[in-house]
Order: sequence, then C-alpha cells, then structure tokens
Amino acid sequence: MGNNLLTMNMMTPGVLHAEMADVFPAEPVVDSLSSGVIFSDANGILTFMNRSAEIFLQVFKETVIGKRIDMLPLRTPLYKVMSEECVDCPLEMNICGRVLEVRAFRLFSWDNRLLGSITELFDVTKERLEKRRREEFVAKMTHDLKSPLMVLQGYLQAIQMGMCGSIDPALKAAFKDMERSSKNLYSMIEDLLDVHRLEMGLVQIKRRKCDIRELLENSCADRRMEAAGEKISITLRVSRDLPSMALDDKQLGRVFSNIIGNAVKFTPRDGKVNVRAWVSEDCLHVSVKDTGIGIHEKDIPRIFDKYYRAEQAAGFKGSGLGLALSKEIVEAHGGSIKVRSSSGKGSEFTIVVPLYEEREEKY
Ligand code: ADP
Repeated sequence: MGNNLLTMNMMTPGVLHAEMADVFPAEPVVDSLSSGVIFSDANGILTFMNRSAEIFLQVFKETVIGKRIDMLPLRTPLYKVMSEECVDCPLEMNICGRVLEVRAFRLFSWDNRLLGSITELFDVTKERLEKRRREEFVAKMTHDLKSPLMVLQGYLQAIQMGMCGSIDPALKAAFKDMERSSKNLYSMIEDLLDVHRLEMGLVQIKRRKCDIRELLENSCADRRMEAAGEKISITLRVSRDLPSMALDDKQLGRVFSNIIGNAVKFTPRDGKVNVRAWVSEDCLHVSVKDTGIGIHEKDIPRIFDKYYRAEQAAGFKGSGLGLALSKEIVEAHGGSIKVRSSSGKGSEFTIVVPLYEEREEKY
C-alpha cells in the first residue's frame, strides 16, 4: 500500500482521481476510521475493506477479498451494499440492525482510466432514531393540542348555526369572541409546532422555481384591508431584472407575510410600509420598511427569540413566534434576516437569501 494522495475532483461528484493505479491510503489509517470503507477494482473485485466495514456488514475480509462482487452470496449484507448504484447520491439501507448511509465514488487515474470504486458506509442509526423520536413527539403534540380545540370550534360553530337550539341574542357576540379566540389559539399552536419542526430539522425546504414578485404581491394584498382600515399605505417595488428563483415559495411566503404583517400591525394610522426587492451579489434582498413604533435598542437582539415581545408590543396582538419562525425558514434557505430600527420612528427588516443554482440540488 502506498500513501499517495487521492484527490477528489469537486467538479465531478462521485469521481475520485488517483495519481497512480495502485494507490490507496495507508491501511492502518483507514482501518481506524469509524466509517466503513471498501475498495473494489475496475473488474469489480474486492481488494480492500476496513475494520468498520467488517463490523457493519458482519463479514471477515479474508473470506471476501479477491472475490468479484457478483460472485458474493446474494443474501449477504456485503452483496446488498455493493450491488446498489449509489454513486452521486447516497442511499440509506437497513443492514444488520443498523441504518447505514452508503455512498460510492469512482476512482480514476490521471489519464482517466477507471481504477475502481470506493464505497463508504456511515452508521446513522442514532441520528435516524433521534429524528424519529422528534417526529413522534411533534405528531403527539399536534394531536394533543389541536384535537380538543377542533372539538371546541366544532361546537361553537354548531351553536352559532342554531344546531343546538336558538341562542339568546345577548350571547351571540360572546360566541363570536370565543370562536375568534379559539382560531387565534389554533394558529398560535400551528406556529409553535412549526418552530419546533424547523428547529428539529423536520421541515425540509422544498425548492422549486418561483416568482418572487407574485409572492410579495400576494403578501401585500393579504394586508391591504387591515392597512386601509388604518389609512396605512403599502407600496411594493420589485426590480425588473429579478430572475425566477428556486426557493420554497410556501415557506418564504410565510416569512414575507409575517414581516409585512408586523410592519402594518406596528405602524400607527396614516403611516407607510415600503416593500422592495432586488438582487445584488448573487443574493435576493427584500426590505420591509415602516414608519411604525420602532424597537428599542435593548430589544433588538432578542426579537428573534421564541415568545419574545418588546414592551412596546403590549396592546398589539401576537405570540412572539413570527420572527423566530421567519428566521428559521430564511436560515434554512442559507440566508439571514437583519433589522434596523429607531424607537418611535420605524423599522426596516431586510431578508437576504442566496440565489440557488439548480445543480446544487444533487449534492
Ligand atoms: P408578534 O408580532 O406575534 O409579537 P414576532 O415574533 O413577529 O411576534 O415579533 C416579535 C417582536 O418584535 C414583536 O412583539 C415586536 O416587539 C417586535 N417587532 C417585530 N416587528 C416589528 C415592527 N415592524 N415594528 C416594531 N416592532 C416589531
């Protein structure tokens, strides 16, 4: 075994280039790795297997080294792993009570001859178990918190529709209030669970091409009624050269609605909310600027914390979860949210999200 360098060609995932045909990292080093490593040559003959791979696949290397992969007994874990085509994208497999993430790289010489492939095995059992526990916890919380509320809402609606007999007109307003409060509570529970899901990594960002202008127009439109009631103007300026981008439109739409909703909520009568979107330095920038109550300097570092509401926000509806949720979503897109504010004068929230190139999806 030589200790020549193996160099991964970053431009071509799943492909490794070696300096010489007979190279492979020194055996003791690879043997001490916690991940499993198997090497098979260009003819599909197993030529190397480290200690972790032996343990994961419950096989002694002496019994398989020198054999062709397609000559291995079909039922063996080693055959199952080696017969999978997992170059480029890793596969998850249940092998001998473990969850293994399996990925393979083809190894080429500098003159582009195929030398063989390296298969790597990662034991992800703990992570998957933990993830499943979290999923179960959130599912249980969702059920336990939402179900009684849905029953309550059902009865409230039935009573208001007269399905339980006529109701005293004096009680009608009370029932309306009860229904509104239960709806608020329901949406607070949804926000709370979403924050949990995001924090626990249970929400996957599903990117697809989306029209940012349309997203922002919809978020502004949702707030126009509320703004009109207070004579607050909402203006939207989107730069013409905004490309369509691969983003999670549903999640990002929530962020825009949250931030624009806050701007309207915390802006007194006759105020202004200006929304702008532009691209610079390979990032989408969205700024939401208001002439509202502003945020005290001491509160600024905390407003993205769960449940945190500045003293000035007392008297305004809210749960203190909107910004925490927005921050998680934007960060899951690889971006950031910043705020500049002056108490009594207004605030500006700026969301910056890197432009996403579709080829990255494969990694
Ligand atoms: P909520 O709006 O439900 O209170 P958020 O998480 O959206 O919760 O916001 C957290 C806090 O940040 C608000 O309670 C408020 O104190 C402050 N805040 C957010 N946006 C603004 C804004 N545009 N103007 C003034 N204060 C704001």
